[in-house]
Amino acid sequence: MGYKGLKLHPVAGKCGVFAETDINGLQKQGVPPDELMASLFESIIQQNLSVLTRGNTLRPTVLLLGGPNCYIKGMRDCWKHNIPKIWEERGYPLPEGVDPKSLIKTPDNAQYFACIGAVEFGKQEDPGIGLYQGYSKLEWYITEGRNIEKAKKGTAQALAKDPDELAAFKQKYTKKKFIATTFQPGQMVEGFIGIDGGSTSTKAVLVDKDRNILCKTYQLSRGNPIEDTQEVLAKVAKQVTDQGATLNILGVGTTGYAKDILKDAVGADVALVETVAHTQAALHFYPDADVICDVGGQDIKIIILKDGRVKDFKLNTQCSAGNGYFLQGTCESFGFKVEEFADLAFNAKGFPQFGYGCAVFMQSDIVDFQRQGWKPEEIMAGLCNVLPKNIWLYVSQIPNLSAIGRKFILQGGTQHNLAAVKSQVDFVESRFKGKDVQPEVIVHQHCGEAGAIGCAFEAVRLWENGKTTEFVGLDNVASITFTTTRNEDTRCYFCKNKCLRTFIDVKTAVPNPGYKGPAKTKVPLAEGAQRLIIATCEKGTVENVEEMRVIKGNIDAIKKENPNLVEIAAKSAFKSYEPPLVADPLPKLQITAAQKKRAELMKKRAELKIGMPRALNMYSCGPFFTAYFESLGVKSENLHWSEFTNEQLYKEGAKRGAIDPCFPSKIGIPHVHNLLYSVHAKKQLDIIFFPMIDALPTFLVNTQSSRACPTVTATPASVKAAFTKEGNLFAEKGVIWKDTLTCLDNDKVIHRQMYDDWKDILGLSEEENYKACMEGLAAMKKFDNDIMRAQAREVLKRLEDENRLGIVLLGRPYHNDPGVNHEILEEFQKLGYPVFSQDSLPIDDEIIWRLFGDEVKAGAIQHPLDVSDAWKNSYSENTSRKVWAAKYVARHPNLVALELSSFKCGHDAPIYTVIEEIVEHSGTPYFCFKDIDENKPTGSIKIRVETIGYFLKRYREDMVRNKQKHLSIEEQLKKFEEQLRNELAVADRYKHVERPATDELVNIAPPQVESGEMAHLGGD
Ligand code: SF4
Ligand code: SF4
Repeated sequence: MGYKGLKLHPVAGKCGVFAETDINGLQKQGVPPDELMASLFESIIQQNLSVLTRGNTLRPTVLLLGGPNCYIKGMRDCWKHNIPKIWEERGYPLPEGVDPKSLIKTPDNAQYFACIGAVEFGKQEDPGIGLYQGYSKLEWYITEGRNIEKAKKGTAQALAKDPDELAAFKQKYTKKKFIATTFQPGQMVEGFIGIDGGSTSTKAVLVDKDRNILCKTYQLSRGNPIEDTQEVLAKVAKQVTDQGATLNILGVGTTGYAKDILKDAVGADVALVETVAHTQAALHFYPDADVICDVGGQDIKIIILKDGRVKDFKLNTQCSAGNGYFLQGTCESFGFKVEEFADLAFNAKGFPQFGYGCAVFMQSDIVDFQRQGWKPEEIMAGLCNVLPKNIWLYVSQIPNLSAIGRKFILQGGTQHNLAAVKSQVDFVESRFKGKDVQPEVIVHQHCGEAGAIGCAFEAVRLWENGKTTEFVGLDNVASITFTTTRNEDTRCYFCKNKCLRTFIDVKTAVPNPGYKGPAKTKVPLAEGAQRLIIATCEKGTVENVEEMRVIKGNIDAIKKENPNLVEIAAKSAFKSYEPPLVADPLPKLQITAAQKKRAELMKKRAELKIGMPRALNMYSCGPFFTAYFESLGVKSENLHWSEFTNEQLYKEGAKRGAIDPCFPSKIGIPHVHNLLYSVHAKKQLDIIFFPMIDALPTFLVNTQSSRACPTVTATPASVKAAFTKEGNLFAEKGVIWKDTLTCLDNDKVIHRQMYDDWKDILGLSEEENYKACMEGLAAMKKFDNDIMRAQAREVLKRLEDENRLGIVLLGRPYHNDPGVNHEILEEFQKLGYPVFSQDSLPIDDEIIWRLFGDEVKAGAIQHPLDVSDAWKNSYSENTSRKVWAAKYVARHPNLVALELSSFKCGHDAPIYTVIEEIVEHSGTPYFCFKDIDENKPTGSIKIRVETIGYFLKRYREDMVRNKQKHLSIEEQLKKFEEQLRNELAVADRYKHVERPATDELVNIAPPQVESGEMAHLGGD
């Protein structure tokens, strides 16, 4: 396993499970094993260099110890490549004429150094300490000691209380064997195929026009979705043709992570996102289901339903804690087949107690339990026992199951494992103890194939709506041959990201007549083949620049129609607000040394170059600082910001980090690194300024305070420490570091803070400094009100007029940073939803009184901008604003909420439920992306965006329908009122006329009415 000269691909290094997910994905894209291993070495070593060194420089000589360094050449080469780069970058002095790589050594017996160290340490101890007592103690521990330990830590109870309970459970939950439909020889079978290309297995089903399941098949994935699909389709077809019948496919649907490739490869009619496919399959068989719990190979999905529609969903696509692959992997590592799992686990008389949560910790628990003497079957029972805790407490965080419904449908291949089902049933039932209702937990009769069934049903629906299938035919699928290419020739150059793409060239017996190959390509396409391109974005799915322009043009048109105010805010926070000049004129008298000095400093202002990091609360306070400096005479073009956060910027600077806090504050160091090493090199900065913003201005009323998060405030201090711990890097580069403490909530305080810290640099008078602060505060208002809220107002008005939906980002100002929000908002914009930042929500009297007026009148709040009804601890400004924005969204019919929150955010944790409840109690959709960090989980983002997009479409349909109903009711009421008024008027007019006797009425001729009219009148 090497490293040198091999292509590297992005692999998340912070967690083994994330890395495994990335490696699996790359493997399926055709990345060769040696490149996968080299990429893994790179990610491990970069992680060590950026986190474990805590910002210190490894000094020569560096010893590489331990098993992996000893046995794996690629690891050693990777260290030898990366450490000298740091020495060079940091200017670390090395001995003259020595190859830096030779200062990184792997000594003989490197794998035994810990043992050798223990011996060496023991030799220094007093003779009476650590006396060798022979094997007996070890023997005792192995035979008895660890059993004592085991008894203390586990439970002596089996998964079932007694054999009777187990038998009753098995009788209830053992599924009836599925019997495929039989066909007559010569029969023409018309049907629809659903294919679920999952991460660990591929499933296919055949259903008829009435949605009956005719036959199905399932197989573990062999690594390539096209080959897997060929095999499962052949198996499905065989079940029909073996009986002498012929198969006519009327439609095909695909789902699962490979749905898009499979759709293109086999000409499917629809590629349906997994969550939707699972919902359709559940609701078809169990229309009154409340909750779907799908435990698949690599992910867990919880879908909460209400009146047969999806109300909410939770996905775990990143951590493997509790998923099927984890259970299967553990079982196989003990030497058993996954089919034996349930029986083994049921036989265990007790099991160890796993802590729920991170899979890496669970993995180390397994090792620990083995050491304590727990047997494999007991460990497997323990894993079953912890599974529902992982599902409900860790992944979905819904401890109160009775609040989401009573009918639970268990789906996914993992539900074939009855021991896992038993634990889930027991857990769900335990959550209903003492409640009036009892839960019903059902394992879907086709649990493993539910996704395939759901997308087959979608194909039926499309056919019912008149769609003719585009399926290439079973014979053509069988004859598909393909080649996969992923190398420098497939790299995309349509933007600065320069992503590597995967080309899959698919060839079938009958080529697609409509397909036109690329006009120009570095990878020749075989005659008759069709190219599928897996790329990071839509533009990368073509090779020709003209075609790319068409795609881009379409995207741009949608984006123009649906503004993204988060993106606009991210740019507008760093532009000039062109404040008036408030600087004093140069002093007329320049006699004393102080006067001369001040005049000199004042003159220098025009040339002073200041760099500021584009990070944290600069996303809301940037205008204050630009206006402050500009109004004092610093030129706008001399104010420089670091780049927007991107992977490269983060990687280059993160190695200086000494602590591991939340992602937004962790990027402080990379931004200053960018200023010092990149911006300074081009612009010769005089000062790098990273203010410690401690308090923010507020537009809310009745809050306790308007502080910034302490982590935000203190970040500049930790950044300074990182750049001064091994020598003052600012001084070395001739740059002054400033990190003024600033309280922007009070004009007098901010005036004092800026004056005290900047007077000797800018030669300030108190008067001009105060005026500059006022200009700064005015620029912030301009940014908030004139730029952001004004645009938002127009967009909101359009949404109201057109009965459409917009998405509000509930997040902190720095979630506007495209490198922090991973451009998730842009994905929604591309789907046709305008996006609002929470600070852009209009606060005009007309709107806020319309939304909150009733509550003010009822005395629940003092003012529309009051959050005290929902959040009492309102001392943190960005938290209070988030709560207020959630209230706003909950009350506005055209807005839905999308919450973004960062991994390790101590300020968001206490308001998770508050925000969710505010939004959901109003019936407004609420979606979230939590635990955001430097790792961009592209796959997880895609599936969530698609799922949310689907639900929003349905929500809007409901909204339009309800509005139409509402209008029609109003119309009818109006007519009815008119009719009543007419009748009253008539009655009033004739009230003095005497009514004729009944016999006189007989002689009056009836009015002439057409029969249709009569029916209509009768109908009314
Ligand atoms: S695939 Fe998309 S993001 Fe990647 S380089 Fe091409 S255009 Fe840029
Ligand atoms: S509010 Fe949360 S994400 Fe922001 S800096 Fe503080 S801890 Fe980090």
